[in-house]
Amino acid sequence: MFESLSDRLGGVFDRLTKQGALSEDDVKTALREVRIALLEADVSLPVARDFIKAVQDKASGQSVTKSVTPGQQVVKIVHDELVHVLAGDGGDGTLKIDNPPAPILMVGLQGSGKTTTTAKLAKRMKEREGKKVLMASLDVNRPAAMEQLQILGAQIGVDTLPIVKGEDPVAIAKRAKTQASLGGYDVYMLDTAGRLSIDEELMQQVEAVRNVANPRETLLVVDGLTGQDAVSTAENFDGRIGISGVVLTRMDGDGRGGAALSMRAVTGKPIRFVGLGEKMDAIEEFHADRVAGRILGMGDIVSLVEKAQETIEAEQAERMMKRFQKGRFNMNDMKMQLEQMMKMGGMEGMMGMMPGMKKAAKQVEESGMDDSVFKRQIAMIQSMTKKERANPQLLQASRKKRIAAGAGLEVRELNQLIKMHRQMADMMKKMGKMGKGGMLKQAMK
Ligand code: GDP
Repeated sequence: MFESLSDRLGGVFDRLTKQGALSEDDVKTALREVRIALLEADVSLPVARDFIKAVQDKASGQSVTKSVTPGQQVVKIVHDELVHVLAGDGGDGTLKIDNPPAPILMVGLQGSGKTTTTAKLAKRMKEREGKKVLMASLDVNRPAAMEQLQILGAQIGVDTLPIVKGEDPVAIAKRAKTQASLGGYDVYMLDTAGRLSIDEELMQQVEAVRNVANPRETLLVVDGLTGQDAVSTAENFDGRIGISGVVLTRMDGDGRGGAALSMRAVTGKPIRFVGLGEKMDAIEEFHADRVAGRILGMGDIVSLVEKAQETIEAEQAERMMKRFQKGRFNMNDMKMQLEQMMKMGGMEGMMGMMPGMKKAAKQVEESGMDDSVFKRQIAMIQSMTKKERANPQLLQASRKKRIAAGAGLEVRELNQLIKMHRQMADMMKKMGKMGKGGMLKQAMK
């Protein structure tokens, strides 16, 4: 999986991490190569473009963490962005199979590996989770399809719904449901019919089955070797049927991996599993961080940078805590807090965790501010002089005008920042008085 992409990126970053200092041009050149590598891997152009832009933004906005080289840091940024592109906001492989019998609907084009994947997943659930699984083929168009599933079932020791000739897919789905309930099955899997390409009849059939089965999971099986076609197939199926995830098959082949990289970004749906061969065990849960690690082949560097960043954060938090205990909270602290907040998922993430901050968070929310506000606030603080940052009480009218103009913003917004700072400073003072900062320590964990 991803060998050629991995080789190319490995080369780019090998060169980058060996350099002691990095110029902006070095990073630019490296990113240009990354972009070419992505496009060669058949990643769609907009996805590749967004990817590079995100990395660029993060690389230029981040100060260099001590004890790692800038090159190593860039590797980490690229890694994180890969994870993001692959997984969006998470999504792990586990299937929702509570409330027995849980229906799983398998959809996809003919030849994508749908029947094979159905059996692979059934075997997995049986062996790993001790689930009792029933499989049913709804493929009335291709007689051999039903037998194929039956044969696979016998091979892996998973029951299949008895074949009744002449039944339509909806009737089969209903029978599967009844059988699953009566037979005490945890899961029943419905392997729908495929077509060579998406057509109306197929969609209507799948839709009708979905309506009676009300599946807990609707997994689309797509051939990973088909690259961008796999992504547009997923878009089509999702638009019509609504899928809960994708299984990419044939990732053992020499495919370029572009489908995997574009899938989430284009369709918004997670890849849940990848098929890695014809054997019944050749399937893996899809974990974005592991895959990103495999693509970059630089796991050591990523964890090195993570550790360095954690250390710095802990040191920073410690230093801040000491300051708060002394009742100090200037614009530098504020800036650090804002940066922290952006990292921790914005206002709600950070303030929700800090006792007493809920009110301030609410005010912010009511004033219609979103996280882009943080960026602007940080820009305003950056536009202050050292002295002003250390002593916010210096901020009088003429200074305010200069600062706001420097950040390209209005004084009104600066006033809001100053107000927020004052509230936070009050808070900090109170919390400092509350003793050894125990609460704050809790909140910052
Ligand atoms: P369906 O028409 O979508 O049900 O496809 P099948 O399940 O019949 O699979 C078509 C062919 O692809 C079979 O020969 C499978 O063994 C093969 N196949 C399925 N998944 C994979 C995979 O992940 N890797 C490889 N190499 N072959 C696969």
